[in-house]
Amino acid sequence: MIREHPAFSDAVELLRSATSMTLACHVGPDGDALGSMLGLGVAAEGAGKKVEASFGEPFDLPHAYRFLPLDLLVPPARVTEAPELFVTFDAGSADRLGDLESRVERAEAVLVIDHHASNPGFGTVDLVVPEAAATAEIVYHLVAALGWPLDEPVAMALHTGLVTDTGRFQYSNTTPGTLRVAASLVEAGARPEVIGRHVYEEVPFGYLRVAGAVLSRAVLEPGHRLVWSVLTQDDLAAGGIGLEATDNLIDLVRIAEEADVAVLMKELDRGRVKVSLRSRGRVDVGAIAVALGGGGHHNAAGFTWEGSVVEAIAAVKERIPR
Ligand code: AMP
Ligand code: MN
Ligand code: MN
Repeated sequence: MIREHPAFSDAVELLRSATSMTLACHVGPDGDALGSMLGLGVAAEGAGKKVEASFGEPFDLPHAYRFLPLDLLVPPARVTEAPELFVTFDAGSADRLGDLESRVERAEAVLVIDHHASNPGFGTVDLVVPEAAATAEIVYHLVAALGWPLDEPVAMALHTGLVTDTGRFQYSNTTPGTLRVAASLVEAGARPEVIGRHVYEEVPFGYLRVAGAVLSRAVLEPGHRLVWSVLTQDDLAAGGIGLEATDNLIDLVRIAEEADVAVLMKELDRGRVKVSLRSRGRVDVGAIAVALGGGGHHNAAGFTWEGSVVEAIAAVKERIPR
């Protein structure tokens, strides 16, 4: 199904013919953004390509992903100005590349690899496959079609993308095809217990304090079947952790059974709020996020709000169908 996509063979040809490539994933990268990018990067290097990989500022690597093959990573300020081939991963629109968005205009060719249905396409070739559970699932098929080496670091990176975007193979995006790819990756050396430990089973102690604060101020709005909470900069300071360590925090909020929709608002700098949305299926939170300037999927989406958390939650609430 992924290999039948009309852009698949063009994507293969762009990757095959390039001698050097610059890779970028979305800002504030998650396991799929990093895993899909580094998986392709390490495989490309194994096939003799010159490769660099990066993501836009803030260039803070989430602690949970330190085990990935990171040798290709360079800070965004050091990224080639006009790459021969610029490949983007898990970015649903060009602005999700942050300060690396400029490379979309300057590169000789741009390949977009993504699975966000809201992606309008912004490359020379757009391999956007909403049926794929993760961008890493698409990358697996590219690497296999190219015959590039799929060794242990590649398999670990791609499997990390699958595990995180499927919620450990429990979300509705988990298809037989996804599980077949996972099987191939474990055969190739991916170690589920190592990935699981780093991503889900190890946090700094301060995270417990932060989670406690966020959970203690959670609000249930039965009329909207909504649960929401706020993460403040003071919480982070008190726990001694950074924003990049809080990716999985919404998973603690969204399990309230009375709610169909969960919202976690994270205070950023200068009156900006990063809003994460999760749905159990009834409500399309991707559409709500798009309407508010962000993006995502039916059941997981987000946007950045310029203003207060009070305004942000009001904007979400008025868009939840009752
Ligand atoms: P998150 O809540 O950050 O885990 O993101 C959930 C989903 O929404 C992912 O697919 C993200 O790519 C997408 N997303 C989150 N924030 C934004 C944003 N500001 N703009 C567009 N898409 C976003
Ligand atoms: Mn992502
Ligand atoms: Mn993804």
